[in-house]
Amino acid sequence: MSSPKVSPDSHSGLTPAILAESPTGHAPGVPYSPVFDDVYHSAAGAWAQARHVFLSGNGLPGRWQGRERFVILETGFGLGNNFLATWAAWRADPQRCTRLVFISIEKHPLLQSDLVRVHQERALDTDEAEAQGMAARLCQAWPSLTPGMHTLDFDESGLPGAGPRTGVTLLLGLGDIATLLPAIVASVDAFFLDGFAPAKNPAMWDEGLISRLNRLAAPGATAATWSVARGVRDALTQAGFRVEKVQGFGGKRDMTQAVFEPRFTPPPLPGGLWPAPAETRHAMVIGAGLAGCAAAWALTRDGWRVTLMDRHEAPAQEASGNPGGLFHSIVHASDGVHARAHRAAALQTMALAGPWVRSGRVDGQCEGLLRLEPRLTDQQAHQRLAALGLPSDHVQWLDRPSASQRAGLDLPSGAWLFAQGGWLHPAGYAQALLEEARQTGLLQWQGQCHVRQVRRQEDGLWQALDAEGRPLADAPTLVLANASHITGLLASATSEIPPLALPLTPIRGQITWLAADHAQAHPPALPVAGGGYVLRLKDGRLLCGATTQHHDDDPTVRATDHTHNLTQAGRLGAWSHSPTTLDGIDIGPLHGRVGWRASTSDRLPMVGAAPLSPHALNGTGRWPDQVRRIPRLRDAQGGLYVIGGLGSRGITWAALAGRLLSHWVSGAPCPVEVDLRDALDPARFALKPPAH
Ligand code: SAM
Repeated sequence: MSSPKVSPDSHSGLTPAILAESPTGHAPGVPYSPVFDDVYHSAAGAWAQARHVFLSGNGLPGRWQGRERFVILETGFGLGNNFLATWAAWRADPQRCTRLVFISIEKHPLLQSDLVRVHQERALDTDEAEAQGMAARLCQAWPSLTPGMHTLDFDESGLPGAGPRTGVTLLLGLGDIATLLPAIVASVDAFFLDGFAPAKNPAMWDEGLISRLNRLAAPGATAATWSVARGVRDALTQAGFRVEKVQGFGGKRDMTQAVFEPRFTPPPLPGGLWPAPAETRHAMVIGAGLAGCAAAWALTRDGWRVTLMDRHEAPAQEASGNPGGLFHSIVHASDGVHARAHRAAALQTMALAGPWVRSGRVDGQCEGLLRLEPRLTDQQAHQRLAALGLPSDHVQWLDRPSASQRAGLDLPSGAWLFAQGGWLHPAGYAQALLEEARQTGLLQWQGQCHVRQVRRQEDGLWQALDAEGRPLADAPTLVLANASHITGLLASATSEIPPLALPLTPIRGQITWLAADHAQAHPPALPVAGGGYVLRLKDGRLLCGATTQHHDDDPTVRATDHTHNLTQAGRLGAWSHSPTTLDGIDIGPLHGRVGWRASTSDRLPMVGAAPLSPHALNGTGRWPDQVRRIPRLRDAQGGLYVIGGLGSRGITWAALAGRLLSHWVSGAPCPVEVDLRDALDPARFALKPPAH
């Protein structure tokens, strides 16, 4: 077998695909990869191949009919033809599943310009305008080529004649199959195995990887591929599939079709992916800040009934009640879990809220954000970006003059410019999330509902109670989304085995804003962060923040905190003179607001099933040292979940945290790689047993 001629990567980022004309005599007109010396699809047609090999080979569309959700996993996204043909078949099927999730892994994604060209230049084996339109929508949604999982939603507002929750989600995993396939957490109904020819692209057909597909296979899963290579068939057999050869496509006599018939199915791990029986799909979500609203949005999309409760009359009244807040990615030399999780979160926020801001539905600005980095020289910053290989449509380094020009302020240093960054009005964002949830018909709002205790009843339902012990609501699943009060409700949860006390700390934050017509204030053209932040609200006011105060429960807006915020704003160039002192500035009437954000000790949110306390062991047995093995407050009927610790980055985290929570609760595919899931799992705080 010849090895692929991939040039050695000089960075840890992605190397986009190189497209060429196929050499003479080698399927003329079919897009060709000079790196792999192979064509992207059969010369007999990409969509025809998709329909014969991958759709029919997996019993589709029939197998998705009448289902709430159907999950496909493809190896090799390539030009996206299999995805487009599958999406078209789903649209054309009146009995389509409500939600189709198409996961696809791709190491060398096309540049957006190449994707556009390939689909414009080539007829998609069909002259239907609809197919061309779908390809155009894929190209438009094509993400910035950063490593990791990307979520692209299509047909979100439903199809004519279909219910409001219908939709297709493309979960695009950009990276090597050897890293990403083991990192996917999903229950997959159909596998499309579509690498280049095994002889030219052995990594895509690695027997070790294929023989472990049982980890992902749902009961009754199927697999199909045009390849009949013995190694592939043997690996599928080893994974527990019954494999057969059937009639092939486009000059190939045979193809492979397989049905998952394992001899043994291990029980799911306590922190693994659990199926949710239809009759139990009802969750009570306590707390309607951004976290709770995002949880309600994601759960209702996934077909769950949600009772959303808050002590206030309206949502987003506490930490989410500020007039504006930032969202952005971060850059870190090692691109570890913190950086990757922030990046995934910022991309999700932009994909979801960007269109809402552009249409005027939510106040905000989604044209990028400048994050100052005074510790790096221009050269060091460029070296860091080159080493990381992050694309410029995600992050760029701007030297001090360029950054200052973009901000319209005299900035003290160079800055990262994050394209998927900006600011949003938190309450407007929360409202939009709830409007989406309401449209599903699955949301029930219960305002002025102060939950003081939760408990699990004998019938297995979780019950929320008020201060007098009166029941307020019940449901099989309970989601705590009430910031630092999560700790108190967890402690109140009467259960045979106590949940772990989760380390959430309330941190006081005061913000300040100045009148739009303030003579000496300069609101920035783009939001700027770094030792405080400044942004220009829609009405021209300068918003600056924020203080970070531990062990401080003073609700009054304090003059000293205004001074702190305004001094920081001065360092960011938002004053017409003297960046370090406020002397001589007529500050005028100041306005501000105080809120508390709940933070965790590692400054990452916590999203997942509540872990039990190691005290549950009562001195017997060994406490697991893997996060997914830690026992939880959860069984086949439901459980107790938390979504919190979003800290001062609620806007950045909300969309991702909501989807991740729904993954935990509803069994939808995980929107991030498993190591990020583990890093956000509340059970990470239960890894060390307490000293006796
Ligand atoms: N399914 C695609 C479509 O519908 O257009 C065609 C897939 S093409 C035959 C195979 C794809 O596998 C290429 O896009 C290639 O870049 C990708 N690939 C090759 N090696 C890979 C690896 N190690 N990990 C992930 N993807 C890989």
